[in-house]
This record gives sequence, C-alpha cells and structure tokens, in this order.
Amino acid sequence: MSVVPELPEVDALAAFLRERAVGHAITSASVTAISALKTFDPPLHALAGGTITAVARHGKFIDLTVGAEPLHLVFHLARAGWLRWFDEVPKTILKPGKGPIALRVKLDDGAGFDLTEAGTKKSLAVYVVRDPDDVPGIARLGPDPTAPGFTLADFQAVLDGRRTQIKGVLRDQSVFAGIGNAYSDEILHAARMSPYALAAKLTPEQVETLFTALRDTLAEAVAAASGRPPADLKDAKRRGMQVHARTGEACPVCGDTVREVRFADSTFQYCPTCQTGGKPLADRVLSRLLK
Ligand SMILES: [Zn+2]
Repeated sequence: MSVVPELPEVDALAAFLRERAVGHAITSASVTAISALKTFDPPLHALAGGTITAVARHGKFIDLTVGAEPLHLVFHLARAGWLRWFDEVPKTILKPGKGPIALRVKLDDGAGFDLTEAGTKKSLAVYVVRDPDDVPGIARLGPDPTAPGFTLADFQAVLDGRRTQIKGVLRDQSVFAGIGNAYSDEILHAARMSPYALAAKLTPEQVETLFTALRDTLAEAVAAASGRPPADLKDAKRRGMQVHARTGEACPVCGDTVREVRFADSTFQYCPTCQTGGKPLADRVLSRLLK
C-alpha cells in the first residue's frame, strides 16, 4: 500500500518541522527536480539567510515562514512525496533531474530536509511566495474540518445543495481541506454510510453521524501521528486503517469481507455489511470491461 499524506500525516510533519526547524536560518534551498518549483519570483535563493519563524498547515500544504520580511516556502507532497529529515544533511552533491529528491533545505546547525518523490509521475509542488494565499491550491481550499470552530451547522451548510456522491465531496479540497482517499474511506466506514450516498439527500441524523465520524476519525489519526518522526508516519497510517487498502480482509467491525471499487487511477474500499446494506457496489472498471 502506498501511503499518500493526508491531513493527519501533514499535520505531524508540520509539527515535527515546527519543533526542529523554527529558530534556525536556512543556509541553502535547492531544487533538483526543476519542475517541482512552481514559482520564480521571489527566487528560491531569496530564502537563504532567513530564519524560519513559524510552520503552518493549510489542508495538505505545509507553509514555512522565513525571514523578517517574511517569505513563505510552501510545499505539497502530492501522492508519492515525502519529507526526509536529517540531523546532519549528507554531503553528497545532488544531480539535477536524477533520483527521487525534489528539494533540499539546509539549516544553520547542519540539519535539514529533503522532499522526495517516488515514481515517474511527478506532482510534488514547491512554491516561494510572499503570502500563502498566492498559492492557487491554498486560495481554493475549503474550511478545515478539524478546526475547533468548525461546527455541525457549518458542516450541514457545506453539504446542502451538493447533489454529488459523498465520497467525492469529502475529498474535494475546495469543500473540505485535507481529506483524501484514505481518510474519506475511513470516515464513511465509521459513519456506516455508502460512498455513493448523495450529499444533499442526507437526513439531519445522517449528517450528524457523518460529522461525528469525520471529527473522531481525524482526531484519532492526528493523535496517532502526532510526535512521530517523519520516517514512522507511513506505518502508523497503515496500521490505523480499518478498510482503506484492506480489500479482501475482514472488516474489524462486522467480519464481512472488505471490498473495493476500482477507477482508472484510484481504488476505494468499503464494507458492504456496514455501509451498503450488504450489497456490493458495482466496480466501475470491471463493469465497463464486461459490457
Ligand atoms: Zn463491516
């Protein structure tokens, strides 16, 4: 199972950087995958010499505030990206365009981090901006569903009038910031709700159940990820999953077999007994092949 960073993992990475990097100056920041850098003004080298004063999370983006006239180093790990921390950054010279390293940041105490991306489809993104809202993906973000002030009434208001399937609504970043494929599977399983239920047709009771499931699932995952070093977060996420990426295994709640629905470039999992009245959902890819 590949582990795509979502809100709880990104939150833990941000907390880790806050603890280890805040108060330290950046001595150098260099991209090896030139396509990863999405901005050119201010330039990447403008970060050098600036002290990191804060680390924030916006949805699945991490935002480092750097320098007195602050610049923001913002990044999004996409589907196959990760952060590798070094107490002592290796001395090896990075070759542009080669290997999994997209960005290397060195700090004044010799520590630092790489952003890496596995695979050939590169979508990890790095931005240097004066205001985080200059990043289009951040400007578009919907409310953060884990924010203390986000209420059931806010949740209901967001769902009202959306005649689309709840699975897609939950993972749409412009609707809710930070939830992806894995946690939307987990939230729907916890709420005992079909991924194909239409958002606008949920009863007030269902909305409340879903809201509780969302808050509890994310709070548990944030707590499980919190305080772990970056290298441990993927395993922590895998272990916490009840149905996501567990096709063919027994549902831990009812013992039914976890099933999946496949799309061209993604798969999601659910439990028929818990979520769809025992009825397996049509597999889109398979049913197209059978026609
Ligand atoms: Zn079940």
